[in-house]
Amino acid sequence: MRLSKMHINTLREAPAEAEIPSHIWLLRSGMIRKLASGVYGFMPMGYRSVRKIEEIVRNEMDAKGALEIHMSAIQPAELWMESGRWYVMGPEMWRVKDRRGREFCLGPTHEEIFTDIVRNEVSSYRQLPLNLYQIQTKYRDEARPRFGLMRSREFVMKDAYSFDRDEAGLDKSYMDMFDAYTNIFKRCGLTFRPVEADSGAMGGSGSHEFTALSEVGESEIAYCECCDMAATTERAFTVDAEAGAEAELELETVYTPNVKTIEDVSAYLGLPKEKTIKALLMAVYEDDGTVREYVAAFVRGDRELNMTKLVNVLGVPEHMVDFADENEMHGKTGSVGGFTGPAGLKNCRIVVDSELPGLRNMCAGACKQDHHIINMNYGRDYKADIITDIKKVREGDACCKCGAPVKLARGIEVGQVFKLGTKYSKSMGACYKDENMQEHLLLMGSYGVGVTRTLAAVVEQHHDERGIIWPVSVAPYQVIVTIVKSDETEQRELAEKIYQSLLDKGIEALLDDRDERAGVKFMDADILGIPVRITVGKKAASGLVEYKLRRESEFTEKSGEEAVSAAAAFIESELRSLI
Ligand code: ATP
Ligand code: MG
Repeated sequence: MRLSKMHINTLREAPAEAEIPSHIWLLRSGMIRKLASGVYGFMPMGYRSVRKIEEIVRNEMDAKGALEIHMSAIQPAELWMESGRWYVMGPEMWRVKDRRGREFCLGPTHEEIFTDIVRNEVSSYRQLPLNLYQIQTKYRDEARPRFGLMRSREFVMKDAYSFDRDEAGLDKSYMDMFDAYTNIFKRCGLTFRPVEADSGAMGGSGSHEFTALSEVGESEIAYCECCDMAATTERAFTVDAEAGAEAELELETVYTPNVKTIEDVSAYLGLPKEKTIKALLMAVYEDDGTVREYVAAFVRGDRELNMTKLVNVLGVPEHMVDFADENEMHGKTGSVGGFTGPAGLKNCRIVVDSELPGLRNMCAGACKQDHHIINMNYGRDYKADIITDIKKVREGDACCKCGAPVKLARGIEVGQVFKLGTKYSKSMGACYKDENMQEHLLLMGSYGVGVTRTLAAVVEQHHDERGIIWPVSVAPYQVIVTIVKSDETEQRELAEKIYQSLLDKGIEALLDDRDERAGVKFMDADILGIPVRITVGKKAASGLVEYKLRRESEFTEKSGEEAVSAAAAFIESELRSLI
């Protein structure tokens, strides 16, 4: 492609809203353009890279025998009511009505639709196993769309759904997808880690997230360097220390005027935070905003509450759980903002983190204005409705598998695989008949790759202060031939020749034949991140050009032919190294 004929529009500066490198560089390179908050369009270069990722995905899915189909983004509400998720999904689901008032949603995911298709199409074990996938646009009205393609409200996802006759079949389908995902993200040039994940609103029994490591990622993972434990921090749990041997001291209520936070309590009473109990006052809300029940969650003072774990314990959809209105909760349960402890509450579910019962002589709120209680001991002084792990894992906590200190890292969730089991086949009646004409529920799995988020993750891991540095596999074009002075015949002719021989070799090449200053051309090539640049300048007369990789700062001088062969060899070896 000749740049003189192609639309590119690189920006000197990124729009103010862009905070992270991938967002900045995708906008500055003109690959994407914003339409509305969390809604982006793809320009020619950007769309080429999206299609490259889609092709890698397609290729790996096909290799596992999955079949590509394409379903509508418009989904009838009835199917979601059948599965029970119409009310579970909350405001993230983009709901629409047609002119007759019939309800639909713009699909955030497609479990219901694929289950519906399969219950109609499949009747016999002979048609199994089956894995259907699509590469399709998804809609989620995210509470906080941000970081461009990372968390958008419209995005491209590859979603696949497997259907098996038994657990062994599901295990195989799941592992196939696990392998396919490993290949996909490797081929996209990502440094990533598959980690155990929470299966959240999807339901089901097992899940892994594929996390591209990055400081700006919204996922946090915990992993162990001594064993294979790796999980999202939402999911990771640790071994609680053995119960302390300390003697139980006498309970005492102390006056703590206006001393509300853990920091204040610890300073005022001269206690380490580890000796205090933190209260988190929550409520389960109905859709109309009324309170279904109050929940008081307690963790050690220096710990954080893990909302995902709490929500899972409560067994309600995530959007129904939020912090409680302290005044209202006070009236109903006897909690006192800043002074709530696990003793003295009523009409409220008390959830205590698994670590607390083993800890002796703790300090907690007294459920009385300006008072705390010290020397609280589980069993003697307070009880729980539920004792379970509800804390966030911290660096250095003991690994649940081997006891070594765990490490934390941040990353971008680029894909997730779930074992759904019979959750959807049961609620929606998706069955098959076995050899003896007996009916059984289908076992399902679901598997998602965020195609457009993967694009952003690639840029996040591959850029420098001058722009993107595409891995060859995802680059919109592989080589750019830059003519220093487009009006110099010798330069133009040699560049044309090189460009043509690149095309002849099947290499995706750009020819920068624009009537621009060389500096502008170099800057654009860097921003666009084309992996190889062949610069045709003054030495064209003697047949020499500059050959430079985007990721390196030095160029080498080569003849035109040598440069073409070097580019071809580089592309081949790069693509091979990603397999
Ligand atoms: P997140 O936790 O980041 O909200 P999710 O777990 O809800 O994501 P899934 O339902 O597992 O997402 O969707 C499959 C994949 O789709 C994710 O792994 C991610 O790559 C992508 N994805 C999900 N939400 C978005 C979004 N708002 N914008 C871009 N990609 C997304
Ligand atoms: Mg997910």
